[in-house]
Amino acid sequence: MPGFRVHITGSSIVGVAYGAAAWYVGDMHPLTCALGGGLCAVSGMLPDLDSGPGIPLKESVAFAAAVVPMLMIHRFQQFGLPLEAIILAGASIYLAIRFGLSWLLKNYSHHRGMFHSLPAAAIAGQTTFLAFAAEEPLRRYFVSSAVVLGFLTHLVLDEIWSVKMGWFGPKVKKSFGTAMKFNGPDLWPNLLTYAIAIILGLLAASDAAWTEKMAHTRQQMEQAARTYYYPQTPQQWQIRR
Ligand SMILES: [Zn+2]
Repeated sequence: MPGFRVHITGSSIVGVAYGAAAWYVGDMHPLTCALGGGLCAVSGMLPDLDSGPGIPLKESVAFAAAVVPMLMIHRFQQFGLPLEAIILAGASIYLAIRFGLSWLLKNYSHHRGMFHSLPAAAIAGQTTFLAFAAEEPLRRYFVSSAVVLGFLTHLVLDEIWSVKMGWFGPKVKKSFGTAMKFNGPDLWPNLLTYAIAIILGLLAASDAAWTEKMAHTRQQMEQAARTYYYPQTPQQWQIRR
């Protein structure tokens, strides 16, 4: 099993490539590229959050607790929350992740369980999609895909590390196939993981439709405002002033 350092290096390389590609090819704003690349890099630590108490768990959970509320700032603004409520909501999310999530992970997960699987990668992406409510759909998909990519990089590295070159060709370790998996040996964790993935998927789909509708309505309202309230073109208006 590759260590913490291998994972963070691997997902950072993939993150830099992902951000750079979006900047060069996709014409994405450099800041969005930087956010995507950074999230991809740190998401490479996510699957091993279940590996028991230790520095990776402590640091990664603390990091997630700090970043998730910041990702959600725009979402809170969309809900029309006043500043005080945003601060309180951010603090509550911090506490819930910092203490609630680490308690859950310490007590209810075992290493390479369902937290370390392909549906868990989808859950991580869906959660990011719901938290990061940018208006442009492309920006949202880019940022949430970054998290999935970092997560998958981790799983792929785990699988690569479980194959060793022996004298007679590649030798497969016992851990092969336990990282990139769709389901584990136990029924309940499987059901729970898939239930969460389906619920989050439905929420994300309806949220995407809603955001698109809102963007469309806003566009129409802006158009209407321009036509009815400012019949003159902005240029004429500037000249008169
Ligand atoms: Zn792992």
